[in-house]
Amino acid sequence: MTTATASSRSTIQQFDRYVIPNYGRYPISLVRGEGSFVWDAEGNRYLDLFPGWGCNILGYSPPRVVKAIQEQAAKLIHVPNTWYMEPQGQFAEALCTRGFGKAFFCNSGAEAVEGAIKLARLHTPEKKYKIITFENGFHGRTFAAVTATAQPKYHDGLGPLVAGFQYAPTNDLGAVRALVDDETCAILIEPVQGEGGVNLPDDGFLQGLRDIADEHSLLLIFDEVQTGMGRTGTWFGYQQWDVQPDIMTLAKGLAGGVAAGAIIATDAVSPSLRPGMHASTFGGNPLACAAGVATVETIEQDGLLENCRQMSDLFRSIFESLQAELPIIEEVRVKGLMVGVDLTIPATPAVGKCMERGLLINATHDTVVRLLPPLNVTAEQVGEGCDIIADVLREMAEEAT
Ligand SMILES: *Cc1c(COP(=O)(O)O)cnc(C)c1O
Repeated sequence: MTTATASSRSTIQQFDRYVIPNYGRYPISLVRGEGSFVWDAEGNRYLDLFPGWGCNILGYSPPRVVKAIQEQAAKLIHVPNTWYMEPQGQFAEALCTRGFGKAFFCNSGAEAVEGAIKLARLHTPEKKYKIITFENGFHGRTFAAVTATAQPKYHDGLGPLVAGFQYAPTNDLGAVRALVDDETCAILIEPVQGEGGVNLPDDGFLQGLRDIADEHSLLLIFDEVQTGMGRTGTWFGYQQWDVQPDIMTLAKGLAGGVAAGAIIATDAVSPSLRPGMHASTFGGNPLACAAGVATVETIEQDGLLENCRQMSDLFRSIFESLQAELPIIEEVRVKGLMVGVDLTIPATPAVGKCMERGLLINATHDTVVRLLPPLNVTAEQVGEGCDIIADVLREMAEEAT
Protein backbone atom coordinates (compact mmCIF):
# COMPACT_ATOMS: atom_id res chain seq x y z
CA MET A 1 0.00 0.00 0.00
CA THR A 2 1.38 3.40 -0.90
CA THR A 3 1.90 5.94 1.82
CA ALA A 4 1.66 9.64 1.10
CA THR A 5 4.89 11.56 0.98
CA ALA A 6 3.16 14.97 0.99
CA SER A 7 1.18 16.42 3.87
CA SER A 8 -2.28 17.86 3.24
CA ARG A 9 -0.70 21.28 3.82
CA SER A 10 1.94 20.95 1.14
CA THR A 11 -0.60 19.61 -1.36
CA ILE A 12 -2.90 22.54 -0.61
CA GLN A 13 0.00 24.96 -1.22
CA GLN A 14 0.67 23.29 -4.55
CA PHE A 15 -3.00 23.64 -5.50
CA ASP A 16 -2.98 27.31 -4.50
CA ARG A 17 -0.15 27.91 -6.94
CA TYR A 18 -1.10 25.67 -9.86
CA VAL A 19 -4.77 24.57 -9.82
CA ILE A 20 -7.61 26.88 -10.90
CA PRO A 21 -9.61 27.47 -7.72
CA ASN A 22 -13.08 26.75 -9.15
CA TYR A 23 -14.01 24.24 -6.44
CA GLY A 24 -14.65 24.74 -2.76
CA ARG A 25 -12.48 22.02 -1.23
CA TYR A 26 -12.21 20.65 2.30
CA PRO A 27 -8.67 21.29 3.63
CA ILE A 28 -7.79 17.61 3.50
CA SER A 29 -5.83 15.58 0.96
CA LEU A 30 -7.15 12.02 0.56
CA VAL A 31 -4.53 9.43 -0.25
CA ARG A 32 -6.08 5.97 -0.21
CA GLY A 33 -9.32 4.15 0.32
CA GLU A 34 -10.77 0.72 0.87
CA GLY A 35 -14.48 -0.06 0.70
CA SER A 36 -16.37 2.56 2.70
CA PHE A 37 -13.23 3.93 4.34
CA VAL A 38 -10.77 6.55 3.14
CA TRP A 39 -7.58 7.93 4.69
CA ASP A 40 -6.06 11.39 4.53
CA ALA A 41 -2.38 12.29 4.21
CA GLU A 42 -2.09 12.53 8.00
CA GLY A 43 -3.37 8.97 8.44
CA ASN A 44 -6.83 9.89 9.71
CA ARG A 45 -9.54 7.42 8.72
CA TYR A 46 -13.02 8.46 7.59
CA LEU A 47 -16.19 6.44 7.08
CA ASP A 48 -17.47 7.75 3.75
CA LEU A 49 -21.21 7.58 3.09
CA PHE A 50 -20.82 9.82 0.03
CA PRO A 51 -17.81 8.26 -1.67
CA GLY A 52 -16.75 9.92 -4.87
CA TRP A 53 -19.98 11.94 -5.14
CA GLY A 54 -21.77 8.70 -5.97
CA CYS A 55 -19.15 7.57 -8.51
CA ASN A 56 -17.61 5.03 -6.15
CA ILE A 57 -20.67 2.79 -6.32
CA LEU A 58 -18.61 -0.13 -4.93
CA GLY A 59 -16.66 2.02 -2.47
CA TYR A 60 -12.95 2.70 -2.76
CA SER A 61 -10.69 0.45 -4.85
CA PRO A 62 -13.09 -2.49 -5.28
CA PRO A 63 -10.86 -5.56 -5.80
CA ARG A 64 -12.42 -6.94 -9.01
CA VAL A 65 -12.32 -3.49 -10.62
CA VAL A 66 -8.70 -2.95 -9.55
CA LYS A 67 -7.72 -6.31 -11.00
CA ALA A 68 -9.60 -5.67 -14.26
CA ILE A 69 -7.88 -2.29 -14.67
CA GLN A 70 -4.45 -3.75 -13.94
CA GLU A 71 -4.90 -6.58 -16.41
CA GLN A 72 -6.40 -4.38 -19.11
CA ALA A 73 -3.75 -1.67 -18.69
CA ALA A 74 -1.05 -4.21 -19.37
CA LYS A 75 -2.82 -5.29 -22.58
CA LEU A 76 -4.32 -2.19 -24.15
CA ILE A 77 -5.19 1.15 -22.55
CA HIS A 78 -6.64 2.98 -25.50
CA VAL A 79 -7.58 2.46 -29.10
CA PRO A 80 -9.84 4.80 -31.06
CA ASN A 81 -13.34 3.99 -32.20
CA THR A 82 -12.12 3.28 -35.72
CA TRP A 83 -11.45 -0.25 -34.42
CA TYR A 84 -13.43 -2.95 -32.66
CA MET A 85 -12.32 -3.80 -29.15
CA GLU A 86 -13.48 -6.59 -26.86
CA PRO A 87 -14.13 -4.68 -23.60
CA GLN A 88 -16.47 -2.14 -25.25
CA GLY A 89 -18.60 -4.88 -26.78
CA GLN A 90 -18.70 -6.79 -23.50
CA PHE A 91 -19.63 -3.72 -21.51
CA ALA A 92 -22.36 -2.74 -23.97
CA GLU A 93 -23.81 -6.24 -23.73
CA ALA A 94 -23.61 -6.19 -19.93
CA LEU A 95 -25.55 -2.91 -19.79
CA CYS A 96 -28.10 -3.47 -22.54
CA THR A 97 -29.05 -7.00 -21.47
CA ARG A 98 -29.85 -5.55 -18.02
CA GLY A 99 -31.50 -2.51 -19.57
CA PHE A 100 -32.46 -2.19 -23.21
CA GLY A 101 -31.37 -1.11 -26.67
CA LYS A 102 -27.84 -0.18 -27.70
CA ALA A 103 -25.04 1.83 -26.07
CA PHE A 104 -22.88 4.79 -27.05
CA PHE A 105 -19.94 5.50 -24.75
CA CYS A 106 -18.45 8.78 -23.61
CA ASN A 107 -16.57 9.90 -20.49
CA SER A 108 -18.87 11.83 -18.18
CA GLY A 109 -22.43 12.66 -17.25
CA ALA A 110 -22.60 16.02 -18.99
CA GLU A 111 -21.23 14.44 -22.13
CA ALA A 112 -23.88 11.72 -21.98
CA VAL A 113 -26.59 14.38 -21.62
CA GLU A 114 -25.15 16.33 -24.56
CA GLY A 115 -25.24 13.18 -26.65
CA ALA A 116 -28.81 12.41 -25.62
CA ILE A 117 -29.90 15.95 -26.57
CA LYS A 118 -28.21 15.69 -29.96
CA LEU A 119 -29.73 12.26 -30.54
CA ALA A 120 -33.22 13.55 -29.66
CA ARG A 121 -32.89 16.44 -32.11
CA LEU A 122 -31.46 14.18 -34.80
CA HIS A 123 -34.18 11.58 -34.39
CA THR A 124 -37.16 13.92 -34.58
CA PRO A 125 -38.21 16.04 -37.60
CA GLU A 126 -36.07 19.12 -38.37
CA LYS A 127 -38.47 21.70 -36.91
CA LYS A 128 -38.71 19.90 -33.57
CA TYR A 129 -35.92 21.04 -31.25
CA LYS A 130 -37.42 22.07 -27.91
CA ILE A 131 -36.74 20.00 -24.82
CA ILE A 132 -38.73 20.16 -21.61
CA THR A 133 -36.72 19.73 -18.40
CA PHE A 134 -37.57 20.24 -14.73
CA GLU A 135 -37.06 22.71 -11.93
CA ASN A 136 -34.41 21.57 -9.43
CA GLY A 137 -32.98 19.08 -11.92
CA PHE A 138 -29.28 18.73 -12.61
CA HIS A 139 -27.75 17.57 -15.88
CA GLY A 140 -24.14 18.78 -15.87
CA ARG A 141 -22.01 21.78 -16.80
CA THR A 142 -21.43 21.77 -20.54
CA PHE A 143 -23.52 24.28 -22.46
CA ALA A 144 -26.55 22.23 -23.43
CA ALA A 145 -26.47 20.25 -20.17
CA VAL A 146 -26.27 23.40 -18.05
CA THR A 147 -29.08 24.97 -20.07
CA ALA A 148 -31.13 21.82 -19.42
CA THR A 149 -30.44 22.46 -15.73
CA ALA A 150 -33.15 24.94 -14.72
CA GLN A 151 -31.71 26.76 -11.70
CA PRO A 152 -30.50 30.29 -12.53
CA LYS A 153 -27.52 29.89 -10.15
CA TYR A 154 -25.90 27.55 -12.70
CA HIS A 155 -26.40 30.07 -15.54
CA ASP A 156 -25.06 33.30 -14.05
CA GLY A 157 -22.80 35.10 -16.46
CA LEU A 158 -22.79 32.33 -19.09
CA GLY A 159 -25.37 33.63 -21.55
CA PRO A 160 -26.47 33.32 -24.23
CA LEU A 161 -27.41 29.74 -23.42
CA VAL A 162 -28.49 27.04 -25.87
CA ALA A 163 -31.88 27.74 -27.45
CA GLY A 164 -34.89 25.53 -26.96
CA PHE A 165 -35.06 24.50 -23.28
CA GLN A 166 -38.21 24.96 -21.22
CA TYR A 167 -38.63 24.23 -17.53
CA ALA A 168 -41.60 22.65 -15.81
CA PRO A 169 -42.25 22.13 -12.12
CA THR A 170 -41.86 18.46 -11.17
CA ASN A 171 -44.92 16.30 -10.51
CA ASP A 172 -47.11 18.64 -12.57
CA LEU A 173 -48.30 16.88 -15.72
CA GLY A 174 -50.58 19.81 -16.60
CA ALA A 175 -47.58 22.17 -16.69
CA VAL A 176 -45.72 19.77 -19.00
CA ARG A 177 -48.74 19.47 -21.30
CA ALA A 178 -49.01 23.24 -21.46
CA LEU A 179 -45.41 23.54 -22.66
CA VAL A 180 -45.64 20.96 -25.46
CA ASP A 181 -46.02 22.42 -28.94
CA ASP A 182 -45.20 21.46 -32.55
CA GLU A 183 -41.52 22.22 -31.94
CA THR A 184 -41.08 20.01 -28.86
CA CYS A 185 -38.86 16.98 -29.43
CA ALA A 186 -38.20 15.53 -25.98
CA ILE A 187 -38.78 15.48 -22.24
CA LEU A 188 -35.63 15.09 -20.11
CA ILE A 189 -35.84 14.16 -16.43
CA GLU A 190 -33.96 12.44 -13.62
CA PRO A 191 -36.19 9.63 -12.25
CA VAL A 192 -35.04 10.77 -8.79
CA GLN A 193 -33.52 14.24 -8.61
CA GLY A 194 -30.11 13.96 -6.96
CA GLU A 195 -28.43 17.36 -6.69
CA GLY A 196 -31.90 18.92 -6.30
CA GLY A 197 -32.30 17.20 -2.91
CA VAL A 198 -33.27 13.53 -3.46
CA ASN A 199 -36.73 14.34 -4.80
CA LEU A 200 -38.94 11.38 -5.66
CA PRO A 201 -41.55 11.44 -8.42
CA ASP A 202 -45.18 11.16 -7.36
CA ASP A 203 -46.97 7.92 -8.23
CA GLY A 204 -47.90 7.99 -11.89
CA PHE A 205 -45.82 11.04 -12.78
CA LEU A 206 -43.18 9.27 -14.86
CA GLN A 207 -45.86 7.15 -16.56
CA GLY A 208 -47.76 10.38 -17.23
CA LEU A 209 -44.67 11.78 -18.97
CA ARG A 210 -44.45 8.58 -21.02
CA ASP A 211 -48.08 9.05 -22.06
CA ILE A 212 -47.53 12.69 -23.04
CA ALA A 213 -44.44 11.70 -25.02
CA ASP A 214 -46.41 9.00 -26.85
CA GLU A 215 -49.34 11.30 -27.60
CA HIS A 216 -47.08 13.95 -29.16
CA SER A 217 -44.31 11.76 -30.65
CA LEU A 218 -41.71 13.10 -28.22
CA LEU A 219 -38.75 11.18 -26.89
CA LEU A 220 -38.60 10.48 -23.17
CA ILE A 221 -35.04 10.79 -21.86
CA PHE A 222 -34.15 9.65 -18.35
CA ASP A 223 -30.96 11.13 -16.95
CA GLU A 224 -29.80 8.14 -14.90
CA VAL A 225 -26.28 9.44 -14.29
CA GLN A 226 -26.99 9.21 -10.56
CA THR A 227 -29.83 6.66 -10.42
CA GLY A 228 -28.20 4.05 -12.67
CA MET A 229 -26.00 1.04 -11.85
CA GLY A 230 -28.11 -0.31 -9.02
CA ARG A 231 -28.28 2.92 -7.03
CA THR A 232 -32.07 2.64 -6.55
CA GLY A 233 -32.09 -1.13 -5.89
CA THR A 234 -32.69 -2.16 -9.51
CA TRP A 235 -30.12 -1.93 -12.30
CA PHE A 236 -31.65 1.30 -13.53
CA GLY A 237 -34.05 3.75 -11.94
CA TYR A 238 -36.68 3.46 -14.66
CA GLN A 239 -37.22 -0.18 -13.60
CA GLN A 240 -38.49 1.04 -10.21
CA TRP A 241 -41.48 2.64 -11.91
CA ASP A 242 -41.67 0.32 -14.88
CA VAL A 243 -41.61 3.25 -17.29
CA GLN A 244 -39.53 2.69 -20.41
CA PRO A 245 -37.49 5.69 -21.62
CA ASP A 246 -36.37 6.06 -25.25
CA ILE A 247 -32.92 7.20 -24.15
CA MET A 248 -31.12 7.00 -20.84
CA THR A 249 -27.85 8.58 -19.78
CA LEU A 250 -25.36 6.94 -17.44
CA ALA A 251 -22.09 8.01 -15.78
CA LYS A 252 -21.00 8.41 -12.10
CA GLY A 253 -20.97 4.79 -10.84
CA LEU A 254 -20.92 3.33 -14.36
CA ALA A 255 -17.37 2.00 -14.23
CA GLY A 256 -16.82 1.67 -10.49
CA GLY A 257 -15.09 5.06 -10.17
CA VAL A 258 -13.27 5.21 -13.50
CA ALA A 259 -14.37 8.09 -15.72
CA ALA A 260 -17.05 6.79 -18.08
CA GLY A 261 -20.40 7.84 -19.47
CA ALA A 262 -22.94 6.23 -21.75
CA ILE A 263 -26.15 6.73 -23.62
CA ILE A 264 -28.50 3.79 -23.94
CA ALA A 265 -31.08 4.22 -26.70
CA THR A 266 -33.83 1.93 -27.95
CA ASP A 267 -33.28 0.08 -31.20
CA ALA A 268 -35.83 2.41 -32.80
CA VAL A 269 -33.94 5.57 -31.82
CA SER A 270 -30.27 4.57 -31.85
CA PRO A 271 -29.77 4.55 -35.67
CA SER A 272 -30.31 8.32 -35.65
CA LEU A 273 -26.87 8.79 -34.08
CA ARG A 274 -25.41 8.40 -37.54
CA PRO A 275 -21.73 8.07 -38.36
CA GLY A 276 -20.18 11.51 -38.47
CA MET A 277 -22.84 13.17 -36.30
CA HIS A 278 -21.39 12.39 -32.90
CA ALA A 279 -18.21 10.93 -31.44
CA SER A 280 -15.93 10.80 -28.43
CA THR A 281 -12.22 10.07 -28.76
CA PHE A 282 -11.84 8.41 -25.37
CA GLY A 283 -15.43 7.11 -25.22
CA GLY A 284 -15.65 3.38 -24.62
CA ASN A 285 -11.91 2.94 -24.21
CA PRO A 286 -10.78 -0.54 -23.15
CA LEU A 287 -9.63 0.54 -19.68
CA ALA A 288 -12.93 2.15 -18.65
CA CYS A 289 -14.97 -0.64 -20.23
CA ALA A 290 -12.98 -3.38 -18.47
CA ALA A 291 -13.63 -1.52 -15.20
CA GLY A 292 -17.33 -1.30 -16.15
CA VAL A 293 -17.63 -5.02 -16.84
CA ALA A 294 -15.99 -5.76 -13.48
CA THR A 295 -18.42 -3.35 -11.81
CA VAL A 296 -21.44 -5.13 -13.28
CA GLU A 297 -19.99 -8.53 -12.31
CA THR A 298 -19.35 -7.38 -8.75
CA ILE A 299 -22.88 -6.03 -8.32
CA GLU A 300 -24.30 -9.30 -9.63
CA GLN A 301 -21.99 -11.82 -8.00
CA ASP A 302 -22.06 -10.14 -4.60
CA GLY A 303 -25.86 -9.72 -4.57
CA LEU A 304 -25.51 -5.96 -4.20
CA LEU A 305 -28.94 -5.03 -5.56
CA GLU A 306 -30.41 -7.02 -2.68
CA ASN A 307 -27.97 -5.42 -0.23
CA CYS A 308 -28.92 -2.00 -1.60
CA ARG A 309 -32.59 -2.65 -0.87
CA GLN A 310 -31.86 -3.96 2.63
CA MET A 311 -29.57 -1.09 3.58
CA SER A 312 -32.11 1.31 2.11
CA ASP A 313 -34.76 -0.01 4.51
CA LEU A 314 -32.29 0.30 7.37
CA PHE A 315 -31.50 3.96 6.57
CA ARG A 316 -35.20 4.71 6.23
CA SER A 317 -36.15 3.19 9.55
CA ILE A 318 -33.25 4.86 11.39
CA PHE A 319 -33.95 8.31 9.98
CA GLU A 320 -37.72 8.01 10.36
CA SER A 321 -37.34 7.26 14.06
CA LEU A 322 -34.91 10.16 14.36
CA GLN A 323 -37.50 12.34 12.64
CA ALA A 324 -40.00 11.41 15.35
CA GLU A 325 -37.47 12.70 17.90
CA LEU A 326 -36.18 15.83 16.13
CA PRO A 327 -38.55 18.48 14.76
CA ILE A 328 -35.68 19.95 12.68
CA ILE A 329 -36.13 16.95 10.38
CA GLU A 330 -38.83 17.98 7.95
CA GLU A 331 -38.81 14.98 5.64
CA VAL A 332 -36.87 11.76 5.05
CA ARG A 333 -36.56 10.79 1.39
CA VAL A 334 -35.00 7.45 0.51
CA LYS A 335 -34.85 5.53 -2.76
CA GLY A 336 -32.41 2.65 -2.71
CA LEU A 337 -29.11 4.12 -1.57
CA MET A 338 -30.06 7.70 -2.37
CA VAL A 339 -30.78 9.13 1.05
CA GLY A 340 -31.99 12.67 1.76
CA VAL A 341 -32.80 14.09 5.18
CA ASP A 342 -34.49 17.45 4.63
CA LEU A 343 -34.06 19.85 7.55
CA THR A 344 -35.88 23.00 8.57
CA ILE A 345 -32.43 24.61 8.97
CA PRO A 346 -29.33 24.81 6.70
CA ALA A 347 -27.72 21.42 6.30
CA THR A 348 -24.15 22.55 5.52
CA PRO A 349 -22.96 22.75 9.16
CA ALA A 350 -23.71 19.03 9.50
CA VAL A 351 -21.00 18.22 6.95
CA GLY A 352 -18.19 19.83 8.97
CA LYS A 353 -19.47 18.45 12.27
CA CYS A 354 -19.59 14.93 10.86
CA MET A 355 -16.13 15.31 9.34
CA GLU A 356 -14.71 16.20 12.76
CA ARG A 357 -16.14 12.90 13.96
CA GLY A 358 -14.64 10.95 11.07
CA LEU A 359 -17.72 10.70 8.83
CA LEU A 360 -18.03 12.07 5.29
CA ILE A 361 -21.49 13.13 4.06
CA ASN A 362 -22.90 15.80 1.75
CA ALA A 363 -25.36 18.68 1.98
CA THR A 364 -27.36 19.74 -1.06
CA HIS A 365 -30.17 22.10 -1.97
CA ASP A 366 -29.47 24.19 1.18
CA THR A 367 -31.35 22.05 3.69
CA VAL A 368 -30.80 18.44 2.66
CA VAL A 369 -28.29 16.08 4.28
CA ARG A 370 -27.51 13.66 1.49
CA LEU A 371 -25.87 10.24 1.44
CA LEU A 372 -24.91 8.12 -1.59
CA PRO A 373 -23.32 5.11 0.14
CA PRO A 374 -21.73 2.37 -1.92
CA LEU A 375 -23.95 -0.61 -2.79
CA ASN A 376 -21.76 -2.83 -0.58
CA VAL A 377 -22.15 -0.71 2.56
CA THR A 378 -22.67 -2.93 5.60
CA ALA A 379 -25.31 -2.72 8.34
CA GLU A 380 -22.53 -1.99 10.82
CA GLN A 381 -21.30 0.96 8.74
CA VAL A 382 -24.85 2.24 8.32
CA GLY A 383 -25.29 2.07 12.10
CA GLU A 384 -21.97 3.76 12.82
CA GLY A 385 -22.63 6.56 10.33
CA CYS A 386 -26.21 7.15 11.43
CA ASP A 387 -25.17 7.33 15.10
CA ILE A 388 -22.81 10.17 14.23
CA ILE A 389 -25.39 11.96 12.08
CA ALA A 390 -27.97 11.59 14.87
CA ASP A 391 -25.55 13.14 17.40
CA VAL A 392 -24.76 15.98 15.04
CA LEU A 393 -28.41 16.69 14.26
CA ARG A 394 -29.29 16.62 17.97
CA GLU A 395 -26.54 19.18 18.55
CA MET A 396 -27.80 21.32 15.67
CA ALA A 397 -31.38 21.07 16.97
CA GLU A 398 -30.14 22.27 20.36
CA GLU A 399 -28.27 25.19 18.80
CA ALA A 400 -31.31 26.13 16.71
CA THR A 401 -33.50 26.66 19.80
C1 LIG B 1 -23.55 14.36 -11.77
C2 LIG B 1 -24.68 14.42 -12.74
C3 LIG B 1 -24.49 14.87 -14.06
C4 LIG B 1 -23.17 15.43 -14.54
O1 LIG B 1 -22.18 14.47 -14.57
P1 LIG B 1 -20.64 14.90 -14.81
O2 LIG B 1 -19.92 13.61 -14.91
O3 LIG B 1 -20.23 15.74 -13.65
O4 LIG B 1 -20.61 15.68 -16.08
C5 LIG B 1 -25.56 14.83 -14.92
N1 LIG B 1 -26.76 14.37 -14.53
C6 LIG B 1 -26.98 13.93 -13.28
C7 LIG B 1 -28.33 13.40 -12.91
C8 LIG B 1 -25.96 13.96 -12.33
O5 LIG B 1 -26.19 13.54 -11.08
